[in-house]
Amino acid sequence: MNRSDVVSPSTADLYDAHVMKNYGRPPLTLVRGSGSYVWDDQGRQFLDFTSGIAVCALGHCHPHWVAQVQRQAGELVHVSNLFRNPNQGELARRLVGYAGPGRVFFCNSGAEANEGLLKLARLHGATKVGGEEGKCYKVICAQSAFHGRTFGGMSATPQEKIQKGFRPLVPGFAFGELNNLASFEALVDDTTAAIFVETIQGEGGVNPATTEFLVGLRKLCDRHNLLLILDEVQCGIGRTGKFYAFEHAGVKPDAIGMAKGLGGGFPIGAIWVGPKAAELFQPGMHGTTFGGTPLACAAGLAVLDVIERDGLLAHVTAAGAVWLAALQALAAEFPAQVLGVRGRGFMLGLQLTSDPIPYVAALRDAGLLAPSAGGNVVRLLPPLTASAEELANSVAIIRSVLSAKA
Ligand SMILES: *Cc1c(COP(=O)(O)O)cnc(C)c1O
Repeated sequence: MNRSDVVSPSTADLYDAHVMKNYGRPPLTLVRGSGSYVWDDQGRQFLDFTSGIAVCALGHCHPHWVAQVQRQAGELVHVSNLFRNPNQGELARRLVGYAGPGRVFFCNSGAEANEGLLKLARLHGATKVGGEEGKCYKVICAQSAFHGRTFGGMSATPQEKIQKGFRPLVPGFAFGELNNLASFEALVDDTTAAIFVETIQGEGGVNPATTEFLVGLRKLCDRHNLLLILDEVQCGIGRTGKFYAFEHAGVKPDAIGMAKGLGGGFPIGAIWVGPKAAELFQPGMHGTTFGGTPLACAAGLAVLDVIERDGLLAHVTAAGAVWLAALQALAAEFPAQVLGVRGRGFMLGLQLTSDPIPYVAALRDAGLLAPSAGGNVVRLLPPLTASAEELANSVAIIRSVLSAKA
């Protein structure tokens, strides 16, 4: 047989044959990225406002990020947490600079960050009852939350589509209504250790916690000696124009979960814990093989470098306000299809009057990649580096799709 007769299977064939079926994917194979754009294997270009689900904070293949990751890859990649490495110490210092005095633990994903935070909640609960475990462990979360796919994260995520098939879940979770302080207050009792919410719900539909609600939760936690834990896995690392989304409300949590944008595409998660609980984890109580490697932390440091050097927080605030206004005007133009626009900075959601999936497909065909979210929402998550012109282009593409469907 002639070598040219051997037809190599397409990526679609390989996925069909060998990749697990837990994602329903569109027929699209991406092969290259630069800035706010990606290209598929047919050479088609897309404006990428999925950003790897709020991961590619600097867009694709940002030169500083690439240079730092390449340099570190040639120097030292992984040593485990049995030894120190300089990048982990430096990234912890930089995150403490944003979050305030406290300590950082590095892991590999949002769900893993949240697992650490839930374990922290249990340790804190035990301190309230003389160190005994199993007495004070309840964590109050929000309805329509999303905290990840592990058993702890899933148990904190009260959605049938996430939990179905995997029960029994981890016990000790209760759920209040987002932005309804009284509903959280009613759930607090002697067994409660922590309140755990996203500052802006992402997967649930881009639902921001209001300032009054966050301030109220802070007071509630102080009154009952509960940890206030904020999941900033999606909304953190500059996405809303502040480094952490809770800064808009002027509250200080006791602990923070981070991941997505922190590595700019390299897997890294982190938890920051403030003075109230920073000493609870002692040697041997928690760990992870891959957390905080020299390479992962080099990626994280490169992200922070560019956010600071290029003034990306100010850019997201200014460009985000213009973009929001343009999208709101668009919503007003197409009231039969768009109910409104929610969110902040570069984390916006278009709330539609119907299923967002056909819109996500039509936007893709028109050259814009954007993920859906709960509550009939199309999420728009540009890289923090997206230009005013690229944001305006996204509005033009969305207008063309709304017009075609009107
Ligand atoms: C994505 C997400 C998670 C889970 O992160 P993974 O890295 O997918 O495990 C947790 N919380 C929030 C708010 C998220 O957006």
